[in-house]
Amino acid sequence: MIIVMQNTATREMVDEVVKVVKGHGLNTEVMHGTTRVAIGVLGDKTQLEEGNVIRLPGVKEILAVSKPYKKVSREYKIDDTVVTVANSVKFGGKNPPVIIAGPCTVESREQVLEIARGVKKLGAKMLRGGAFKPRTSPYAFQGHGVEGLKMLKKAGQEVGLPVVSEIMSAEYLDEFMENVDMLQIGARNMQNFDLLKAVSKVKKPVLLKRGMSATVEEFLLAAEYILAGGNDQVVLCERGIRTFEQSTRNILDLNSLALIKEISHLPIIADPSHAAGRYDIVPALGLASLAAGAHGLIIEVHNNPCEALCDGKQSLTFYTLEAFMEKAKPLI
Ligand code: PEP
Ligand code: MN
Repeated sequence: MIIVMQNTATREMVDEVVKVVKGHGLNTEVMHGTTRVAIGVLGDKTQLEEGNVIRLPGVKEILAVSKPYKKVSREYKIDDTVVTVANSVKFGGKNPPVIIAGPCTVESREQVLEIARGVKKLGAKMLRGGAFKPRTSPYAFQGHGVEGLKMLKKAGQEVGLPVVSEIMSAEYLDEFMENVDMLQIGARNMQNFDLLKAVSKVKKPVLLKRGMSATVEEFLLAAEYILAGGNDQVVLCERGIRTFEQSTRNILDLNSLALIKEISHLPIIADPSHAAGRYDIVPALGLASLAAGAHGLIIEVHNNPCEALCDGKQSLTFYTLEAFMEKAKPLI
Protein backbone atom coordinates (compact mmCIF):
# COMPACT_ATOMS: atom_id res chain seq x y z
CA MET A 1 0.00 0.00 0.00
CA ILE A 2 1.24 3.48 -0.86
CA ILE A 3 -0.26 6.55 0.79
CA VAL A 4 0.08 9.55 -1.51
CA MET A 5 0.04 12.93 0.27
CA GLN A 6 -1.36 16.14 -1.23
CA ASN A 7 1.29 18.54 -2.51
CA THR A 8 0.16 21.00 0.19
CA ALA A 9 0.64 18.49 3.02
CA THR A 10 2.83 19.75 5.83
CA ARG A 11 5.58 17.83 7.57
CA GLU A 12 3.30 17.49 10.65
CA MET A 13 0.62 15.85 8.50
CA VAL A 14 3.14 13.34 7.13
CA ASP A 15 4.36 12.60 10.67
CA GLU A 16 0.79 12.04 11.85
CA VAL A 17 0.10 9.53 9.04
CA VAL A 18 3.33 7.69 9.86
CA LYS A 19 2.31 7.59 13.54
CA VAL A 20 -1.14 6.16 12.76
CA VAL A 21 0.30 3.50 10.42
CA LYS A 22 3.00 2.50 12.92
CA GLY A 23 0.31 2.35 15.60
CA HIS A 24 -1.09 -0.62 13.66
CA GLY A 25 2.21 -2.47 13.97
CA LEU A 26 3.31 -1.64 10.41
CA ASN A 27 6.50 -0.15 9.03
CA THR A 28 6.70 2.89 6.76
CA GLU A 29 9.03 4.18 4.12
CA VAL A 30 8.68 7.91 3.47
CA MET A 31 9.52 8.85 -0.11
CA HIS A 32 10.08 12.51 -1.04
CA GLY A 33 9.16 13.32 -4.64
CA THR A 34 9.63 16.67 -6.36
CA THR A 35 6.11 17.87 -5.62
CA ARG A 36 4.73 15.53 -3.01
CA VAL A 37 5.46 12.87 -0.43
CA ALA A 38 4.39 9.23 -0.66
CA ILE A 39 4.45 6.82 2.26
CA GLY A 40 5.06 3.14 1.56
CA VAL A 41 3.36 0.82 4.06
CA LEU A 42 5.07 -2.50 4.78
CA GLY A 43 3.69 -5.48 6.69
CA ASP A 44 0.34 -7.24 7.21
CA LYS A 45 -2.26 -4.58 6.44
CA THR A 46 -5.34 -6.64 7.28
CA GLN A 47 -5.95 -4.67 10.47
CA LEU A 48 -5.53 -1.26 8.85
CA GLU A 49 -8.81 0.26 7.66
CA GLU A 50 -8.20 2.33 4.53
CA GLY A 51 -11.00 4.63 5.59
CA ASN A 52 -9.14 5.60 8.76
CA VAL A 53 -6.10 6.71 6.76
CA ILE A 54 -7.77 8.44 3.81
CA ARG A 55 -9.49 10.86 6.21
CA LEU A 56 -6.27 12.05 7.85
CA PRO A 57 -5.34 15.66 6.97
CA GLY A 58 -3.10 15.91 3.90
CA VAL A 59 -3.80 12.44 2.47
CA LYS A 60 -4.64 12.47 -1.27
CA GLU A 61 -5.12 8.81 -2.14
CA ILE A 62 -4.22 5.26 -1.27
CA LEU A 63 -2.83 2.90 -3.89
CA ALA A 64 -3.10 -0.85 -3.38
CA VAL A 65 0.04 -2.70 -4.41
CA SER A 66 -0.95 -6.25 -3.47
CA LYS A 67 -4.27 -8.08 -3.85
CA PRO A 68 -6.65 -8.36 -0.88
CA TYR A 69 -6.81 -12.17 -1.17
CA LYS A 70 -3.85 -14.24 -0.03
CA LYS A 71 -4.42 -17.96 0.51
CA VAL A 72 -6.20 -18.50 -2.81
CA SER A 73 -3.43 -16.82 -4.81
CA ARG A 74 -0.52 -18.41 -6.62
CA GLU A 75 1.82 -16.09 -4.74
CA TYR A 76 0.84 -17.92 -1.57
CA LYS A 77 0.93 -21.39 -3.16
CA ILE A 78 2.49 -21.89 -6.54
CA ASP A 79 1.40 -25.49 -7.23
CA ASP A 80 -2.12 -26.40 -8.31
CA THR A 81 -4.38 -27.58 -5.52
CA VAL A 82 -5.99 -30.92 -6.17
CA VAL A 83 -9.41 -31.33 -4.58
CA THR A 84 -10.40 -34.91 -3.85
CA VAL A 85 -14.04 -35.90 -3.48
CA ALA A 86 -15.02 -39.15 -1.75
CA ASN A 87 -11.42 -40.39 -1.96
CA SER A 88 -11.85 -40.98 -5.66
CA VAL A 89 -12.69 -38.02 -7.89
CA LYS A 90 -9.87 -35.49 -8.32
CA PHE A 91 -10.23 -31.92 -9.57
CA GLY A 92 -7.26 -29.83 -10.66
CA GLY A 93 -3.59 -30.27 -11.40
CA LYS A 94 -2.86 -32.74 -14.16
CA ASN A 95 -6.03 -34.74 -13.55
CA PRO A 96 -8.41 -35.06 -16.51
CA PRO A 97 -11.48 -32.78 -16.42
CA VAL A 98 -14.30 -34.13 -14.27
CA ILE A 99 -17.80 -34.24 -15.72
CA ILE A 100 -20.53 -33.73 -13.12
CA ALA A 101 -24.01 -34.35 -14.49
CA GLY A 102 -27.54 -34.71 -13.21
CA PRO A 103 -30.85 -32.95 -12.86
CA CYS A 104 -31.28 -29.38 -11.73
CA THR A 105 -33.42 -30.74 -8.93
CA VAL A 106 -34.16 -34.12 -7.43
CA GLU A 107 -37.82 -34.77 -8.25
CA SER A 108 -38.39 -38.37 -7.19
CA ARG A 109 -36.46 -41.55 -6.34
CA GLU A 110 -37.13 -42.97 -9.80
CA GLN A 111 -36.18 -39.79 -11.65
CA VAL A 112 -32.84 -39.31 -9.89
CA LEU A 113 -31.95 -42.99 -10.11
CA GLU A 114 -32.72 -43.19 -13.81
CA ILE A 115 -30.63 -40.05 -14.46
CA ALA A 116 -27.80 -41.35 -12.26
CA ARG A 117 -27.69 -44.58 -14.27
CA GLY A 118 -27.81 -42.71 -17.57
CA VAL A 119 -25.06 -40.20 -16.82
CA LYS A 120 -22.81 -42.80 -15.22
CA LYS A 121 -23.05 -44.91 -18.37
CA LEU A 122 -22.08 -41.90 -20.47
CA GLY A 123 -18.95 -41.12 -18.46
CA ALA A 124 -19.97 -38.68 -15.72
CA LYS A 125 -17.82 -39.01 -12.60
CA MET A 126 -20.19 -37.24 -10.20
CA LEU A 127 -23.94 -36.82 -9.82
CA ARG A 128 -25.52 -33.41 -9.19
CA GLY A 129 -29.03 -32.72 -7.94
CA GLY A 130 -30.57 -29.86 -6.00
CA ALA A 131 -32.71 -30.56 -2.95
CA PHE A 132 -32.86 -26.99 -1.64
CA LYS A 133 -33.49 -24.77 -4.64
CA PRO A 134 -32.84 -21.02 -4.74
CA ARG A 135 -35.74 -20.02 -6.98
CA THR A 136 -36.35 -16.46 -8.12
CA SER A 137 -40.07 -16.85 -7.47
CA PRO A 138 -41.37 -18.04 -4.09
CA TYR A 139 -44.13 -19.89 -5.98
CA ALA A 140 -41.73 -22.04 -8.02
CA PHE A 141 -40.82 -25.57 -6.86
CA GLN A 142 -38.44 -25.18 -3.92
CA GLY A 143 -37.00 -28.71 -3.86
CA HIS A 144 -37.68 -31.72 -1.65
CA GLY A 145 -35.28 -30.61 1.09
CA VAL A 146 -33.72 -33.27 3.30
CA GLU A 147 -35.81 -36.00 1.62
CA GLY A 148 -34.30 -34.93 -1.70
CA LEU A 149 -30.78 -35.18 -0.26
CA LYS A 150 -31.49 -38.73 0.84
CA MET A 151 -32.81 -39.68 -2.60
CA LEU A 152 -29.70 -38.21 -4.18
CA LYS A 153 -27.39 -40.08 -1.82
CA LYS A 154 -29.18 -43.35 -2.48
CA ALA A 155 -29.05 -42.93 -6.24
CA GLY A 156 -25.36 -42.04 -6.06
CA GLN A 157 -24.61 -45.08 -3.93
CA GLU A 158 -26.60 -47.37 -6.16
CA VAL A 159 -24.68 -46.43 -9.31
CA GLY A 160 -21.35 -45.61 -7.65
CA LEU A 161 -21.14 -41.84 -8.16
CA PRO A 162 -20.24 -39.27 -5.47
CA VAL A 163 -22.89 -36.55 -5.17
CA VAL A 164 -22.96 -32.77 -4.95
CA SER A 165 -25.90 -30.62 -3.87
CA GLU A 166 -26.49 -26.98 -3.02
CA ILE A 167 -26.62 -25.88 0.61
CA MET A 168 -28.52 -22.63 1.14
CA SER A 169 -28.33 -22.34 4.91
CA ALA A 170 -25.90 -23.54 7.58
CA GLU A 171 -28.97 -24.72 9.50
CA TYR A 172 -28.88 -27.95 7.42
CA LEU A 173 -25.14 -28.51 7.55
CA ASP A 174 -25.46 -31.76 9.54
CA GLU A 175 -27.85 -33.22 6.97
CA PHE A 176 -25.52 -32.24 4.14
CA MET A 177 -22.50 -33.73 5.93
CA GLU A 178 -24.45 -36.95 6.23
CA ASN A 179 -25.77 -37.15 2.68
CA VAL A 180 -23.46 -35.47 0.16
CA ASP A 181 -19.82 -35.80 -0.88
CA MET A 182 -19.42 -32.17 -1.92
CA LEU A 183 -21.19 -29.00 -0.75
CA GLN A 184 -22.31 -26.60 -3.47
CA ILE A 185 -22.62 -22.90 -2.70
CA GLY A 186 -24.76 -21.34 -5.39
CA ALA A 187 -24.34 -18.07 -7.25
CA ARG A 188 -26.93 -16.32 -5.09
CA ASN A 189 -25.12 -17.28 -1.91
CA MET A 190 -21.56 -16.57 -3.01
CA GLN A 191 -21.42 -13.69 -0.55
CA ASN A 192 -23.42 -15.30 2.23
CA PHE A 193 -20.55 -14.86 4.62
CA ASP A 194 -22.05 -16.86 7.48
CA LEU A 195 -22.50 -19.80 5.11
CA LEU A 196 -18.94 -19.44 3.79
CA LYS A 197 -17.63 -19.42 7.36
CA ALA A 198 -19.74 -22.47 8.26
CA VAL A 199 -18.41 -24.58 5.35
CA SER A 200 -14.88 -23.43 6.12
CA LYS A 201 -15.05 -25.33 9.37
CA VAL A 202 -16.02 -28.74 7.99
CA LYS A 203 -14.05 -31.50 6.33
CA LYS A 204 -15.94 -31.68 3.06
CA PRO A 205 -15.00 -30.27 -0.37
CA VAL A 206 -16.90 -27.20 -1.53
CA LEU A 207 -18.02 -26.26 -5.04
CA LEU A 208 -18.21 -22.46 -4.98
CA LYS A 209 -20.14 -20.87 -7.83
CA ARG A 210 -19.44 -17.34 -8.96
CA GLY A 211 -22.16 -14.80 -8.19
CA MET A 212 -23.82 -13.61 -11.38
CA SER A 213 -22.65 -10.04 -10.76
CA ALA A 214 -19.45 -10.81 -8.87
CA THR A 215 -16.07 -9.58 -10.03
CA VAL A 216 -13.12 -11.98 -10.12
CA GLU A 217 -11.78 -10.28 -6.99
CA GLU A 218 -15.07 -10.76 -5.11
CA PHE A 219 -15.23 -14.38 -6.28
CA LEU A 220 -11.71 -15.09 -5.04
CA LEU A 221 -12.38 -13.30 -1.76
CA ALA A 222 -15.42 -15.53 -1.21
CA ALA A 223 -13.13 -18.55 -1.68
CA GLU A 224 -10.63 -16.86 0.64
CA TYR A 225 -13.25 -17.02 3.44
CA ILE A 226 -13.35 -20.80 3.11
CA LEU A 227 -9.56 -21.22 3.03
CA ALA A 228 -9.06 -18.69 5.82
CA GLY A 229 -11.41 -20.73 8.02
CA GLY A 230 -9.39 -23.89 7.46
CA ASN A 231 -10.92 -25.70 4.45
CA ASP A 232 -8.66 -25.68 1.40
CA GLN A 233 -10.76 -28.16 -0.58
CA VAL A 234 -12.50 -25.62 -2.79
CA VAL A 235 -13.41 -25.98 -6.46
CA LEU A 236 -14.46 -22.74 -8.16
CA CYS A 237 -17.21 -22.67 -10.78
CA GLU A 238 -17.72 -20.11 -13.53
CA ARG A 239 -21.45 -20.24 -14.28
CA GLY A 240 -22.04 -17.14 -16.36
CA ILE A 241 -22.46 -13.51 -15.44
CA ARG A 242 -24.97 -10.76 -16.23
CA THR A 243 -24.02 -8.27 -18.90
CA PHE A 244 -25.82 -5.91 -21.29
CA GLU A 245 -26.45 -8.89 -23.58
CA GLN A 246 -29.87 -10.38 -22.91
CA SER A 247 -30.22 -12.98 -25.65
CA THR A 248 -28.98 -15.83 -23.45
CA ARG A 249 -29.56 -16.41 -19.73
CA ASN A 250 -26.00 -15.36 -18.83
CA ILE A 251 -22.62 -14.92 -20.50
CA LEU A 252 -20.06 -17.63 -19.81
CA ASP A 253 -17.01 -15.64 -18.81
CA LEU A 254 -14.11 -17.71 -20.10
CA ASN A 255 -11.81 -14.70 -19.77
CA SER A 256 -12.17 -14.98 -16.03
CA LEU A 257 -11.80 -18.76 -16.07
CA ALA A 258 -8.49 -18.49 -17.94
CA LEU A 259 -7.36 -15.62 -15.71
CA ILE A 260 -8.24 -17.42 -12.49
CA LYS A 261 -6.16 -20.40 -13.61
CA GLU A 262 -3.20 -18.03 -13.75
CA ILE A 263 -3.72 -16.16 -10.49
CA SER A 264 -5.12 -18.91 -8.27
CA HIS A 265 -4.01 -22.46 -7.49
CA LEU A 266 -7.60 -23.64 -6.93
CA PRO A 267 -9.29 -25.82 -9.55
CA ILE A 268 -12.01 -24.14 -11.61
CA ILE A 269 -14.82 -25.80 -13.55
CA ALA A 270 -17.54 -24.33 -15.78
CA ASP A 271 -21.31 -24.62 -15.75
CA PRO A 272 -22.42 -24.27 -19.38
CA SER A 273 -26.06 -25.04 -18.47
CA HIS A 274 -26.78 -22.02 -16.29
CA ALA A 275 -24.65 -19.82 -18.54
CA ALA A 276 -26.64 -20.80 -21.63
CA GLY A 277 -30.17 -21.20 -20.28
CA ARG A 278 -30.98 -23.23 -23.41
CA TYR A 279 -29.95 -26.78 -24.18
CA ASP A 280 -28.91 -26.30 -27.80
CA ILE A 281 -25.82 -24.20 -27.06
CA VAL A 282 -24.73 -26.06 -23.89
CA PRO A 283 -22.42 -28.45 -25.82
CA ALA A 284 -20.61 -25.57 -27.57
CA LEU A 285 -20.05 -23.76 -24.26
CA GLY A 286 -18.92 -27.00 -22.63
CA LEU A 287 -16.36 -27.65 -25.36
CA ALA A 288 -15.12 -24.05 -25.23
CA SER A 289 -14.67 -24.32 -21.45
CA LEU A 290 -12.63 -27.51 -21.76
CA ALA A 291 -10.53 -25.95 -24.51
CA ALA A 292 -9.90 -22.97 -22.21
CA GLY A 293 -8.58 -25.35 -19.55
CA ALA A 294 -11.55 -25.91 -17.24
CA HIS A 295 -10.88 -28.66 -14.69
CA GLY A 296 -14.36 -29.99 -15.23
CA LEU A 297 -17.96 -29.24 -16.14
CA ILE A 298 -21.23 -29.38 -14.28
CA ILE A 299 -24.03 -30.11 -16.72
CA GLU A 300 -27.77 -30.39 -16.17
CA VAL A 301 -29.23 -33.59 -17.61
CA HIS A 302 -32.81 -34.82 -17.42
CA ASN A 303 -34.49 -38.05 -18.48
CA ASN A 304 -37.54 -36.08 -19.62
CA PRO A 305 -36.74 -32.34 -19.85
CA CYS A 306 -40.24 -31.49 -21.14
CA GLU A 307 -41.61 -32.42 -17.72
CA ALA A 308 -38.73 -31.19 -15.55
CA LEU A 309 -39.76 -29.21 -12.46
CA CYS A 310 -36.80 -26.88 -12.88
CA ASP A 311 -34.52 -25.78 -15.73
CA GLY A 312 -35.86 -28.24 -18.32
CA LYS A 313 -35.11 -25.66 -21.00
CA GLN A 314 -31.37 -25.94 -20.48
CA SER A 315 -31.14 -29.64 -19.63
CA LEU A 316 -29.47 -32.11 -21.96
CA THR A 317 -31.11 -35.46 -22.65
CA PHE A 318 -29.09 -38.70 -22.48
CA TYR A 319 -28.93 -38.56 -26.24
CA THR A 320 -27.48 -35.04 -26.39
CA LEU A 321 -25.11 -35.78 -23.49
CA GLU A 322 -23.85 -38.81 -25.38
CA ALA A 323 -23.18 -36.71 -28.48
CA PHE A 324 -21.42 -34.11 -26.33
CA MET A 325 -19.22 -36.68 -24.59
CA GLU A 326 -18.17 -38.03 -27.95
CA LYS A 327 -17.13 -34.57 -29.13
CA ALA A 328 -15.40 -33.79 -25.83
CA LYS A 329 -13.32 -37.00 -25.88
CA PRO A 330 -10.13 -35.38 -27.21
CA LEU A 331 -10.33 -32.78 -24.41
CA ILE A 332 -11.00 -35.14 -21.49
C1 PEP B 1 -27.80 -24.90 -9.80
O1 PEP B 1 -26.67 -25.38 -9.94
O2 PEP B 1 -28.83 -25.56 -9.88
C2 PEP B 1 -27.94 -23.44 -9.61
C3 PEP B 1 -29.04 -22.92 -9.07
O3 PEP B 1 -26.88 -22.76 -10.05
P1 PEP B 1 -26.48 -21.21 -9.83
O4 PEP B 1 -26.32 -21.03 -8.36
O5 PEP B 1 -25.20 -21.09 -10.59
O6 PEP B 1 -27.59 -20.39 -10.41
MN1 MN C 1 -30.59 -25.38 -12.48
